[in-house]
Amino acid sequence: MNPELVESGKGLAVAEEGCLSFPGVYVEIKRPRWAKVRARDLEGNTVEVDGDGLLGRALQHEHDHLTGKLMIDLVGTIKKEVIKRKMKRWHAEHDGEKPAAATPSLPELV
Ligand SMILES: [Zn+2]
Repeated sequence: MNPELVESGKGLAVAEEGCLSFPGVYVEIKRPRWAKVRARDLEGNTVEVDGDGLLGRALQHEHDHLTGKLMIDLVGTIKKEVIKRKMKRWHAEHDGEKPAAATPSLPELV
């Protein structure tokens, strides 16, 4: 609960990222190679998770969501417009459908 990105570093790396918020969109994002997140468990104890590579990238990506930042906010203006057009096409083709990889509903998690 209440995760904070407390540290990141060990150089920068560029890698392709996707996001359930943008089905079918993959963009190269430059991020620190390593990140550490501090949070609370269900008993209120402080827990820390850190990782590099894909885990470090995922920690930063998910933390971005909690601060209202999406991967579209990390790309340039032209790429952002390309993504917006792609998402308009996606919505036109899938009107009324849920994305295949949508967040599972509560009964699926239990
Ligand atoms: Zn995401």
